[in-house]
Amino acid sequence: MRGSYFEKLIKYIRNVYDIDKVFNDLTDTRVYPKYKTKQIATILLIGFLLRIESFNDLKLMLGEKRFSKLFPKGTDIPKIDTFRDTSKTMCVELLQLTHHSFIKMMRRNKVFDNGTIAGLMVCAIDGTTLFGSYNKHCDSCLTTTIKGRTFYYHSCTVMSSIGNGPKIVFDFEMQNPAIDSASKDEGELNASKRLLKRVAGSHKGLVDIVVYDALACNSIWINHCRNLGVDLIVRVKENNVSSVKQVKKKTNKQEPAEVWMNKKGFERVEVFESTFRMDHVDRPLRFVKFAMKYPSGKHSQIMIVTTCMDLSLAVLFKMIRARWNIENSIFNNLKTNCFLDHCFVHGENAVEVLLYLQFMASNFMQLFMHRRIHQSMKTQKQLVKLLLEGLHDMKRSPERMFSSA
Ligand SMILES: [Zn+2]
Repeated sequence: MRGSYFEKLIKYIRNVYDIDKVFNDLTDTRVYPKYKTKQIATILLIGFLLRIESFNDLKLMLGEKRFSKLFPKGTDIPKIDTFRDTSKTMCVELLQLTHHSFIKMMRRNKVFDNGTIAGLMVCAIDGTTLFGSYNKHCDSCLTTTIKGRTFYYHSCTVMSSIGNGPKIVFDFEMQNPAIDSASKDEGELNASKRLLKRVAGSHKGLVDIVVYDALACNSIWINHCRNLGVDLIVRVKENNVSSVKQVKKKTNKQEPAEVWMNKKGFERVEVFESTFRMDHVDRPLRFVKFAMKYPSGKHSQIMIVTTCMDLSLAVLFKMIRARWNIENSIFNNLKTNCFLDHCFVHGENAVEVLLYLQFMASNFMQLFMHRRIHQSMKTQKQLVKLLLEGLHDMKRSPERMFSSA
């Protein structure tokens, strides 16, 4: 194998995703900037690929001139303050378009051609809190009261692919205190509506099914998905919708539609299903209950409502269980390993700018691992260690350099 993993990764994002050209479109509103927005964004993206923990971490790397070899000889590398100022002033809309142009390239590169579960492209949406504080706050902080004290925080909802293949973050949407309800569930659902609308609008026909938590088990979400041409699966927990209460009761009295013995990790799974109608939704819906018994004797159950009337129960079971991918592969992974819940720079604009760059880095890492180096690498941690070594040992070469002009 020729070249280090770092060199391969840089070649991959330069040649396949054309970072050098695509980032040309980025702008910010610094006055008389000495450095191009593109150069700042490129270094930040590479910093996130190398998993910087903070801007202080980045400052150390800049001090060691780690990034100089990625640019033509004699190129000035900006100081840390320029990175701070630029994240506060970079145009989020253009960065968002850039993010979506990468998704379009992935689609052209056939990343999504086989779907992720049973040939279908399945995504999950989920909300997450990014960071919070009792002291530091900005105009776009959400607030809550903990033991009489105001706590300030930022939350967003994220949409990513789940199932087989690379876990790609399609987009995110900040919960916005100016337009979203202060109620936790309603606020999140509102942000998720904007998120799905943007993704479905930017990538027509890409997403087949979106899986979401019980807070979306209502006619508002069901109709929103239907209007956008996307099927849905939502979990059912305690629910105030009367038709859901009724169908739960009715289904409990039925015989199971299917019984699976010794299915992966379960001793026995009984599946119950009914169709029903919900107020304000014009077509019938499907209610399914999976009652699982584990070899340990423990029981649990998952209930769902879905618009997928023809999918087999086994496929529906796979899809609702793959919902955990967004928790594990995206949130837990990015929070534990990539400092997604660290506040790099506080303020509405900077938070969104840095999130886009973090998610781009996460997507490229997923693509690189799944499509370039396959199973040769055990863990992402190992890979990152090798990437850092690769950067250290790299020699300047035109095919690995980004233009600064
Ligand atoms: Zn804030």
